[in-house]
Amino acid sequence: MPSEVIQIRHPLVQHKLTVMRDKSTATLEFRRLMREIGMLLAYEVTRDLEVAEVEIDTPLETMSAPMLEGKKLCLAPILRAGLGLAEGMLDLIPSARVAHIGLYRDPKTLAAVEYYMKAPDLIDERMVIVVDPMLATGNSAVAAVDRIKEQGANRIRFVALLASPEGVDRFHAAHADVPIYVAAIDRQLNEKGYILPGLGDAGDRLYGTR
Ligand code: URA
Repeated sequence: MPSEVIQIRHPLVQHKLTVMRDKSTATLEFRRLMREIGMLLAYEVTRDLEVAEVEIDTPLETMSAPMLEGKKLCLAPILRAGLGLAEGMLDLIPSARVAHIGLYRDPKTLAAVEYYMKAPDLIDERMVIVVDPMLATGNSAVAAVDRIKEQGANRIRFVALLASPEGVDRFHAAHADVPIYVAAIDRQLNEKGYILPGLGDAGDRLYGTR
């Protein structure tokens, strides 16, 4: 069965994404919007986290109330653009652990090449949310989830801002057990592996490089 694709159609997410797509949006605002959308996507992707009742004392009486249960979850941004989205997610889930996955795209083959990986311990007991704003060819996303699975993760979600239909298909074929959370699925990839209409190079737009 293919993995689930959950599209976040919330008007705030869609509005912010439209501003990010606009080429006249400058680095500072682009980065701020990425962070804000990260927070909103974090809200959606954690919607079904388990809670357990604990007993607490309010100033007036004792009550039983829900608290998050289990090990702290782990965000796994794919460097470098994933950091921009993960920052916003951390604003909402500040106690999350973070695994960094360094991958770059070979400009000729578009294959994902790993240059860095560091993950927290007990990853098999945590929900792991792999984060990359652009699910384009799917090569980086598939490679990142491969690595996270090799480390023992068994409860994984993938969060992106934009996806291409090609990237979704490639990801589905490799990791049918991992749901994808995304703000929009665009028309297609171009010959260089960019999403159309897209928003350009997310890393360059976040960090003001070219
Ligand atoms: N990575 C980006 O930053 N943008 C794209 O359109 C595709 C991959």
